[in-house]
Amino acid sequence: MTDERFDAQSVLPLAREIVATGPICDACLGGAFGQLGRGLSNADRGRALRSLLAPTGDDADRGACWVCGGLFDEVGEWARRAAERVPETEFDTYLFGMRPTPRLIEVEAYFQERFPTGAAEPLKHAFNRSVGKAFEALVGRGTVDFRDPHVVFTVDLGRRTVALRVASLFLYGRYRKLVRGIPQTHWPCRRCGGRGCEGCGGTGKQYAESVEEIVARPFVEAARAKGAHLHGAGREDIDARMLGTGRPFVLEIVAPQVRSLELGAIGGVLAREAAGRVEISELRWTNREAVAQVKETRATKRYVARVAFGGPIEESVLERALESLVGNIKQRTPRRVAHRRADLVRERRLHEIRGHVTGPSEAEIELLTDGGLYVKELVSGDEGRTHPSLAEVLGVSAVVAELDVMRITSSEFPDGEDASMDEDAGVA
Ligand SMILES: [Zn+2]
Ligand SMILES: [Zn+2]
Repeated sequence: MTDERFDAQSVLPLAREIVATGPICDACLGGAFGQLGRGLSNADRGRALRSLLAPTGDDADRGACWVCGGLFDEVGEWARRAAERVPETEFDTYLFGMRPTPRLIEVEAYFQERFPTGAAEPLKHAFNRSVGKAFEALVGRGTVDFRDPHVVFTVDLGRRTVALRVASLFLYGRYRKLVRGIPQTHWPCRRCGGRGCEGCGGTGKQYAESVEEIVARPFVEAARAKGAHLHGAGREDIDARMLGTGRPFVLEIVAPQVRSLELGAIGGVLAREAAGRVEISELRWTNREAVAQVKETRATKRYVARVAFGGPIEESVLERALESLVGNIKQRTPRRVAHRRADLVRERRLHEIRGHVTGPSEAEIELLTDGGLYVKELVSGDEGRTHPSLAEVLGVSAVVAELDVMRITSSEFPDGEDASMDEDAGVA
């Protein structure tokens, strides 16, 4: 790697030895010195060496290359097969990968050991680059991108296949769920596990629709995608509404054929379709990293809950009980989620709580909590698994009859509004 230029004369003795070993293609011969010089393809380099070694060109009929077994003769064919996979897929950037056969790995290792040029380019790199160039020429578009390509092809030499992976698109936004009874993401039917049965009317779903499906549909259609996943910053219960400025989420659009989507227009379609059930705001493009960020963000939550008691409650008693609850709450995993969460005791902070009696044995309370605090159990006590609880300090049973999430505040995903908690709850 000392000279910018490829000096064929200096490597000629080694090249002579290589050629004498058996039939070898120009790409493999040139690839043995692939790190020398720039702006030359391995095949060009190999041709130059060969013309110096045998100026008469009497080696024209030399048989299949003993190193690659004719791999570089197939470059055009692999490029054509890759191109056939993406006639209707929009992409600006691509990448080729290759799975060699065990035999190719062995022969290449042997070749490099026997002829230690110190400048060999791995066969894989040379192949991927060659196929990429041929592919570009064939489809007339695309540039190679090693970091974040739109489409990735994997050529499997053993199975003789070309696999295609189309990179997902990622959208950030916030959703409001205006009605109860819709889960955040689709749930497989409990009876059939998603295969479809009488119980679910053949849909395979426990609930007819989800925020995920409602939000995803117009994007999946516009992108002609395989599907979509909604990754939320936490999730509200199925029977809770998500109000206020909404919940941050990232929508992953899987294997899109169209990437240049008009967010405004699709957002308009979504607004019409989802009217009265789900509302979306702050839509913008983001990247894969945002999925983990939105899932792991430590947000505080503000709720309004309608609580039903097992007996009459006086306003002053309720007030004192609520005041006494502020602080750290110990919660053993609630029974209702124990089937999908590890059974352990979590400690979460109840920052603020206040409320007023709304009927003989009814109250409305407003709370500000750490993310991950289970509000229903803070009220009911969950048979002693949450401590302290409203039921415990009042000495009377208490259950949440209705729950609304009013505000999710996260420093990474601000909602653009004043973060002070002293505003009106905004529910009737
Ligand atoms: Zn070869
Ligand atoms: Zn079913």
